[in-house]
Amino acid sequence: MDFRFSEEEEAFRREVQQFLRESLPADWPGPVGMFHEEAVEEIFQMGVEMRRKMAARGWIGISWPKEYGGGGEPIMKQMILEEELNYRSAPGYDQYSMILAGPLILQFGTEEQKKRFIIPITRGEERWSIGMSEPNAGSDLAALETRAVEEDDCFVLNGQKTWQSGANHADWCMVYARTDPNVAKHKGITCFLVSLRSPGVTIRKLEQMGGLSILNEVFYDNVKVPKENVLGKVNGGWNVAVSSLSSERTFGVLLINACRQDMEQLVRYCRETYVNGQPLARDPIVRNKLGEMAIEIEVGHTMAWKLNWLVAAGRPIVIEGSQCRLYGTALAQRVTNVGMQILGLYGQLDEDSKWTVLRGRMMHSYLLASAAGIWSGTSEMSKNTIANFGLGLPRG
Ligand SMILES: Cc1cc2nc3c(=O)[nH]c(=O)nc-3n(C[C@H](O)[C@H](O)[C@H](O)COP(=O)(O)OP(=O)(O)OC[C@H]3O[C@@H](n4cnc5c(N)ncnc54)[C@H](O)[C@@H]3O)c2cc1C
Repeated sequence: MDFRFSEEEEAFRREVQQFLRESLPADWPGPVGMFHEEAVEEIFQMGVEMRRKMAARGWIGISWPKEYGGGGEPIMKQMILEEELNYRSAPGYDQYSMILAGPLILQFGTEEQKKRFIIPITRGEERWSIGMSEPNAGSDLAALETRAVEEDDCFVLNGQKTWQSGANHADWCMVYARTDPNVAKHKGITCFLVSLRSPGVTIRKLEQMGGLSILNEVFYDNVKVPKENVLGKVNGGWNVAVSSLSSERTFGVLLINACRQDMEQLVRYCRETYVNGQPLARDPIVRNKLGEMAIEIEVGHTMAWKLNWLVAAGRPIVIEGSQCRLYGTALAQRVTNVGMQILGLYGQLDEDSKWTVLRGRMMHSYLLASAAGIWSGTSEMSKNTIANFGLGLPRG
């Protein structure tokens, strides 16, 4: 088995690393400033600038077809790009557009939709969010209640979505709504491409643990969606949703990359910090815990690239995606837990404190890791998938 990347891939990785060294502040700790409302705006603007630079290099949609503004390059390059951006916690790489909306529009969209929606993503001009979850429909997505009723040349949308990541900064949303209430639950759903600037759309921010402000409730009150904005077939939304959830499983890869950066910072801290005249790195308990984490991260990194390789080969990822998703979540929780133990009380301080360490990154990662077991399908649902499809067990 040969795990190496090709010369061209390695050269591309070096190019991305160089770009990130030039574009990010040297001590960039990731978007930890999102604990503060003012910093969120600053980081958002930084993201706009990063997208502009990446678009100029043809990196947004680097593996998408050229006729829709993509780079037409092998998908491996996109994965290397994602890994490096993620590892440095670079702002501006819009995962909801890149991993979900863009690929789904390419897969299910009409020619007009591809031209209208993909090109602005590749230029870094438009951002997407995903509107699946509702107050009464999360794991059981087919229970969704948002209604879309056909009227002349449009569908009229009414309902409420919740937990919409990034909707406050997005332009568009993939909204799943019930178009036929008289058939089996999953057969009467349609996916719509909805402008979040449409009359009747109200976006309300949700308070989040730790102050992150990316989650929103979105209300649709008689919102008119043109018929040409149906993605896939009317009442065929379940297929789009299944494809979307399958892609979301690759979010495990993102978590594993973030762990690698958390770990690197932790090791640096242990080398540089002295307790009672001794470097923390000499403490046997600290060394023991870091050693354990290093092994788990290596296992995760290998799983992540196996998953990437399956995606690149166009193979199904239902089982491996769930495994990686589950492992990534547990890994993030373990690494950040170890981090918080090593940093002790300093770990609880955010960027504002003069006593803060690692600019508050560990606390940010720790809080985020607890949410990781919920978003894009809960850990329990991933275990169900592995039990059903991986082990062939009957449904519980
Ligand atoms: C940070 C974050 C970002 C998110 N971003 C988005 C987004 O952009 N767009 C969007 O649409 N949604 C988003 N979500 C919502 C997310 O997809 C849902 O929260 C998730 O699917 C769970 O749904 P729920 O919250 O309704 O919990 P429920 O489905 O009510 O589950 C409650 C508990 O019961 C368990 N459970 C439920 N059914 C089963 C079962 N069959 N077997 C075993 N256990 C079960 C769950 O695992 C969970 O522990 C986000 C959530 C978070 C936390």
